[in-house]
Order: sequence, then structure tokens, then C-alpha cells
Amino acid sequence: MQTDEKIPREMYIGGEWVAASDGNRMDVIDPATEEVIDSVPVATAEDLDRALEAARSGWQSWREVDAWSRSAVVRKIGELLRERTDVIARTMTAEQGKPLAEAAGEVGGAADSFDWHADEARRIYGRIIDGPSRDHRLLVIRQSIGPVAAFTPWNFPILLPSRKIAPALAAGCSIILKPAEETPRTALLLAECCAEAGVPAGVVNVVTGNPAEISRHLLASDTIRKVSVTSSVPVGREVLRNAAEGIKPVTLELGGHSPVLVFADVDPAAAAEVCARGKFRNNGQVCIAASRFYVHEKIAAAFTERFVAVVESLRVGNGRDEGVDVGPLSNARRLEAAESLVADAVAKGAEVKTGGCRPPEFERGFFYRPTVLGNVDTSMRIMSEEPFCPVAPIATFASFDEAIEKANSTEFGLAGYVFTNDTKTAFLAAEQLDVGMVGVNELVLATADVPFGGIKLSGYGREGGSEGMGSYTVAKYIKLKL
Ligand code: NAD
Repeated sequence: MQTDEKIPREMYIGGEWVAASDGNRMDVIDPATEEVIDSVPVATAEDLDRALEAARSGWQSWREVDAWSRSAVVRKIGELLRERTDVIARTMTAEQGKPLAEAAGEVGGAADSFDWHADEARRIYGRIIDGPSRDHRLLVIRQSIGPVAAFTPWNFPILLPSRKIAPALAAGCSIILKPAEETPRTALLLAECCAEAGVPAGVVNVVTGNPAEISRHLLASDTIRKVSVTSSVPVGREVLRNAAEGIKPVTLELGGHSPVLVFADVDPAAAAEVCARGKFRNNGQVCIAASRFYVHEKIAAAFTERFVAVVESLRVGNGRDEGVDVGPLSNARRLEAAESLVADAVAKGAEVKTGGCRPPEFERGFFYRPTVLGNVDTSMRIMSEEPFCPVAPIATFASFDEAIEKANSTEFGLAGYVFTNDTKTAFLAAEQLDVGMVGVNELVLATADVPFGGIKLSGYGREGGSEGMGSYTVAKYIKLKL
């Protein structure tokens, strides 16, 4: 069942590779073939208690390690990730489906996150405040918040765990990570890098199994002092409810429904090229993926024509194969979602400009043809439900105000995009979009040094940048009488 590589397939708890205490395992499936390629343990309550104890004692020792030493360990993890790009990318493609080149790029992004947080570990500053009296000095110090419980989805199997583990380590926290059921071994490879980089036993733990049981169990424990989750809105709500009992701070990254506004002053073909390639990255399974295109009516025909041509040139196939642009969807749920969203739109009058079905050449695998829909309106689910699939609806607008109103019409507020050459339009649109992040003439936003996150149903808190790092620390005020 195992691939040729020696990929870790047990949980990593307290510095040891362990099976579930009752021996239960769950299958890992290749979305391109639907074959079972491996299995990982299903953690029991006993295993989770062991992880909690490991994280508790891990934090006691790691919080005492000086910032420069923590920084060196965090940097080493990034180096090991880069060295192992090949094996990590192949494992990721086998579990998740994305093309190998995309998977390798993601490993680079994960390594960048460790690099950046290695620097940031040395920049955790307090301050001294004069205060109202010369007899006193008021000090603020920043300390690590404590053991973290982190939950990551399957769309970015190495990047998202890295965006939680790197700041936790840099700040002096320990962490228990529960990766997605679809992509556990990629996260276990990261645990291996952490171990080899010198992270002490118990500081990073990775458990696998049933997400609802694991989050309920971990969040009920007094040991956990912070929670970070990347998921859908319903899962975020459930985690928040579980965290509420123990008043635990939660960082919630819950996806979006990002609008793209294409104004009349741009070259429609050039904008369409950027938009079409960006939209189908990772098969549209990206929280900041462009979900709705609003194009000025004057250039809509030219934009759509070029967009469809680019989409039709994308090669769909097994992510392992050379030259593939778009792999399978990562699980059967996303394939069903794509079919259902397109059927709903078509029933309400949408026009399928290309795609709209599974590619007939694949007998197995969760493949869906990159799809473009025209003649869309707000009655269609695709215009307000997070699609997370390779379907691009294109609508039009006639004025700036109409574009902004349409863009802000969903409950989400993660990212928004503006295509224009006019500085005033760019600024005003960026300011008026109800989102946490804006890309101008650009669909790629994430990088380690910026605050990534949303507003409204897209969640709160930020990952990356000093804002993200700050949430792994707490401020302590000390009043000193001289
Ligand atoms: P989901 O929200 O059901 O699951 C996402 C992840 O959360 C999974 O990996 C799962 O392990 C974990 N999870 C599930 N229940 C949990 C719980 N009670 N506690 C802690 N973690 C839990 O999503 P899905 O079915 O895999 O995908 C459906 C939708 O989720 C997508 O359409 C998309 O809207 C959203 N999603 C968002 C992101 C993102 O980057 N924000 C990533 C993946 C999925």
C-alpha cells in the first residue's frame, strides 16, 4: 500500500512516532485514481491525552529557550523543507491532486514561512512606559501564550500547517496539529523536519483521525491556551463554540467568495489571461480564489472570449504527469459540489461557455472540467456559496458604484481583486471592498510577511506578519516601584 518513499504514517506525539492505542487506522486516497494509497492512525482519547501532556511539558521547556536559539531551530526547519521539496511535493500530489510544480511551489512557501518567523522570533519586543509618577516604571513584556491546538484543511497540506507551526515555535509555544483527513502524511513529513531540526520532544505534535472528536477533546482541556483553524464557516462555528467554554482565543480563517472587478481602462485580453490562470490554480480550491468576475460591460465580450480560450488551453490530468495544469478535485465532496453548483446555475438560466461536466477521458478520479459560466445572476448559488471548485461565473457592471455594491453583496469578506490602470479607481475600490485583503492587477496574495485573514463570515484574526505572530503571545504588564 505504501509508496516507494519512506513516508511517516504514524502520529507524532511527545517526540515519538505512535500508532493509535486501539490500532485503528483510516485510509488515505489518491484523488486522481480513487485508490487507497496508505493509512494513518485514528487517535483515541488516550492518544489525545498523551498529546496534551506532551504539549504541556513541551511548552514548559520551550518557553524557557532563548529567542536566538528558537530562531535557529525555526530556520533549520525551513532549510529541511527546501531540501525535501521533491518527496514532500510528490506526497502532496498523491494525496491532494495538485500538479507537482504547484506542490513544489507550496513547499517553497512553507519554507518561507519558517524563514520569516525565524527572524520574527528575535523581534518580540516589550516596552517601558514612563507613566504618571517618577517613582514607577511601567513595563510590558510579551510572553508565549501556551500550547496551541491547530486544525488545517486539505487544500494547502504543507503551507497551512507551516503558517501555524512556525509562529507558534517562534513565539515559544508548543502545538498539537490535526491535519486534514485527506492529506495527513504531508503534515507528518513536516513533523519529521521539525524533529530533525531540533524541536524538543512534545513541542510539536501531530495527531490524525476524526476532526470533530479531536477538536472537542483538545479544546475541552485546560492545557490548550490558543486555537487556530482554517476551515469552512460551519466548522469554524463549531470550533468557536467548543473554545468558548474555556474562553480560549481563536484565529478563524474561514474561506471567502472573492469578487474580481475588471474596469474598462484595462486591456481585456491581458486581464483575462491573469484571471483565468489564477482562478484555476489548485483547481479553484483556494480560500482567496476569485469566485465572481464582474467585468465592465464595454470590455466584457473581449474579456470573456480570451478567458474561455485560456481555460480551454489548460490541460487536465493526473498531477504527477508532466505538463498538467489542473489535477483532480481533492475529494468526492468537491466534485459533487461542482456538479451541483453548475446544475443549479444552468437550471436558472446560466450559459455554459466551456466545461460544465466531468472530462469523459477519465474513468476514475475526481476530475471536473474547468468551467466558465455566463449570463449569471444572484439567484444562482454559485454567486454566494463558496465554490471551492473550478467554476468561474462572469457577470458585468456599468458603473463604479454598481461594481462595489455587487462585490460586497455576500456574507464573506476575505479577499477582493481590482483590475485597473487608474490609481484613483484602484485606491477607492480597495478602500470600499468589504474584505481583509485586496489584490490590484494581481490574484496571488499570500506571503509570510503580511497579515492574511478576513472579516464578516470569513473569520477574524490574522496569519502571517507581525499581526499573526502577535496572536501567539500575550502582553503582561508589570508595575515597578523604584
Ligand atoms: P470542512 O470545513 O468540513 O473541513 C475542513 C477541515 O476542517 C477538514 O480538513 C477537517 O479535518 C476539519 N474539520 C472538520 N470538522 C472539524 C471540527 N469539528 N473541528 C476541527 N476541524 C474540523 O470542509 P470540507 O468539506 O473539507 O470543504 C468544504 C468547504 O470548506 C469548502 O467548500 C470551503 O468552503 C471550506 N474550506 C475552506 C478552506 C480555507 O482555506 N478556508 C479550506 C478547506 C475547505
